[in-house]
Amino acid sequence: MDVTEGEHGCRAVQAVPPLARPMGRPATRLLYLEDDHCYEADATAIAVEGNALACDRTPFYAGGGGQPPDTGRVALRGGPLLQVESVYADDDEVIWHVSAPPPPAGIAGQPVRLAIDAARREALARYHTALHVLNTIVLRDYGGWITGVEIGTDYSRIDFRLEGLSAALAAEVAAKANAVLQEDHPVVAYFLAEAEFCRRGDLLRTLTVQPPVHAGRVRVVEIQGFDAQACGGTHVRRTGEVGRLTIYRIENKGRINKRLYVRLEDAARCAPAP
Ligand SMILES: [Zn+2]
Repeated sequence: MDVTEGEHGCRAVQAVPPLARPMGRPATRLLYLEDDHCYEADATAIAVEGNALACDRTPFYAGGGGQPPDTGRVALRGGPLLQVESVYADDDEVIWHVSAPPPPAGIAGQPVRLAIDAARREALARYHTALHVLNTIVLRDYGGWITGVEIGTDYSRIDFRLEGLSAALAAEVAAKANAVLQEDHPVVAYFLAEAEFCRRGDLLRTLTVQPPVHAGRVRVVEIQGFDAQACGGTHVRRTGEVGRLTIYRIENKGRINKRLYVRLEDAARCAPAP
């Protein structure tokens, strides 16, 4: 399996035939792909390498496509509480939890309890869903394709290939996005067969990054009644949970590359002035 970083909340995992796969550890079961509100789980430790622990399953998002990895904790039976500071996926799709203190050697086979920082994940999910609403409006109404994304807990930024962007246009985009958010659409995730996905050009929001393909399937995040797009990231359950967004700064990043800084209402106090 080959893992590449998408530019939009979407970890691109390109499938290779099983026989071509190198002999490695089995891929970690990614619980957030089954339920992106799974914040805690029991698991079995599989391996320790340095300050990183791998388990058979995990609720931790390993990062990618502009959404940073989760942080959180690992509880060991009779051992120290490990603070998970970062998470990454290796080439075999094994998820490694980098912790302090480091995981004790020799815990493979033992039960562990994994818990992500739920408040941080929820903030990232709110921003991620907000950016889906924005990117759909910008493509649908202004023809802007995504060229980059950075999702944060206090603010986020998103880049579009867009000829012109004035403060008035940014305000117009924000007003349209807020109208959609207030309509409180349900947000759901599901998988499509890759062949079907390839017939659905409407699911793409970027021309520069491969869509996330996992074992011949593509994950789609749908804001029901508004939008569906390829995405491997985590989201809120309904758009009403996002609140109101503000586009508080716009920048030219090259002739037709435009950057929008976005913050959500209750995060305004924390948003830095870039
Ligand atoms: Zn996404």
